[in-house]
Amino acid sequence: MRRLLINIGGYKGDVIDIAKVLRDVDTTAAAAGWKRIPMTDTLGGYERILPNARANVYIGTGIHGDEPAGPLAALELLKEDAWPAGVNLWLVPCLNPRGYELNTRENEDGIDLNRDYRATQTAVVKAHVKWLDARPKFEVTLLLHEDWEANGFYLYELNPNLRRSLSEAIVGAVKEVCPIDLSPEIEGRPAKDGIICANPDLEKRKDWPEAFYLIHNKSEQSYTLEAPSDFPLVTRVQALCRGVLAGLGTLMAE
Ligand SMILES: [Zn+2]
Repeated sequence: MRRLLINIGGYKGDVIDIAKVLRDVDTTAAAAGWKRIPMTDTLGGYERILPNARANVYIGTGIHGDEPAGPLAALELLKEDAWPAGVNLWLVPCLNPRGYELNTRENEDGIDLNRDYRATQTAVVKAHVKWLDARPKFEVTLLLHEDWEANGFYLYELNPNLRRSLSEAIVGAVKEVCPIDLSPEIEGRPAKDGIICANPDLEKRKDWPEAFYLIHNKSEQSYTLEAPSDFPLVTRVQALCRGVLAGLGTLMAE
């Protein structure tokens, strides 16, 4: 499978009708027994609690409006309903609907919401943090993104307490459906087999992305999955779905 080579200077691929995707998410989630928990007047997340669950996992996506595979993967995962047994799940399918309408990474005010989790100056991130804080702690968080410059799928792992890593299981499953970016350096960081250990960044970065807030306040481990958006949209959605289910499967197999 080759790159489409259409993303010159930014994401130029397929876009989605985010309002429709979020309506479908809402209907599918309700039918599968998930409960909607509002975040703002228009945004919300979903919760699926099980009796005797052994782990809490948060899945978040839709923070960058030029990354359509994330919300589509959220919808697909809800439709498949093939979660491993014993896990409580929380899912936020979109935090930046206007960004999707504009096909921009940033929100309608030109702000990258995924750099606002320390200062929390935007109303959306404030509301999201409040929403997260009202949930229990998570063993693992999975954040679904895309990168229009990447040569294949890769991920960032934050695992400061060195719990058993899910990275190899995630990449191994994604490899079946999507190329992996095997570059020794990705986004200026050393990488191996599509895996970036982002622990060294934890002390350095001031402009926290969502993953940093989660690691500092809510979660033992966090994985940011990056689908390569110079490949077909269906491939990227599959990559994110396979990665999520493989990560969860490995977590729950412990
Ligand atoms: Zn992103």
